[in-house]
Amino acid sequence: MRVVLLGAPGAGKGTIAKLLAEFDGSVPISTGDILRSAVKEGTDLGKKAKEFMDSGDLVPDSLIMEIMEARLRKPDCRKGFILDGFPRTIFQARELKNLLAKLSVKLDFTANLEAPRDIILDRLTTRRTCCNPDCQAIYNIKNNPPQEDGACKLCHHQTMQRDDETEEAIANRLEIYHQKTAPLIGYYEKEGLLKNFLSLVADDTVSEIKKAISA
Ligand code: AMP
Repeated sequence: MRVVLLGAPGAGKGTIAKLLAEFDGSVPISTGDILRSAVKEGTDLGKKAKEFMDSGDLVPDSLIMEIMEARLRKPDCRKGFILDGFPRTIFQARELKNLLAKLSVKLDFTANLEAPRDIILDRLTTRRTCCNPDCQAIYNIKNNPPQEDGACKLCHHQTMQRDDETEEAIANRLEIYHQKTAPLIGYYEKEGLLKNFLSLVADDTVSEIKKAISA
């Protein structure tokens, strides 16, 4: 499948991308995961991105397009991809369209994940993420906790609260989402590519998306 997951921070994009990838071997690609790995590894990209990320601001479009052009050209993407957290601005959406035309591939659709604000806030404050850059598994201390000692069930590294999950950074991320990313809903609607999905229980949302892919 070739799908863009759209939705506010905490709408469930990361969890759903990983579950959908198990369905047909499409690769889940999260710009947030790529950037967090770069920050951890202290690369040039990480140094440039860190300040924006910690405050919940968007990393400049030019850096994001460089990363995504390189990533989408990798051979594993031929099986399909699930984009989580990209595009996040109208500029990125237009550039993605150009890039996919160059690669001669088409999106199946953009899945817009909808969840009420109180659920989103609760998910963001109770989320824990594996600190291993190659894993970054997502947990939730209420309904999907890591091991009792706080370690990741998959790779046994510690899980942690992300630097951008402070109350202040969360408020900023939601504000930026409404200003810069929510307009993509209208953009993809005009392109005839938008499908809306309620994102309350991940397994249910994944089934609905799979149905839409197979239809
Ligand atoms: P996420 O894990 O998707 O919530 O992303 C975490 C942070 O990485 C965001 O708050 C931004 O600072 C940065 N980021 C991720 N994807 C993008 C993108 N497509 N454009 C700009 N910044 C991004």
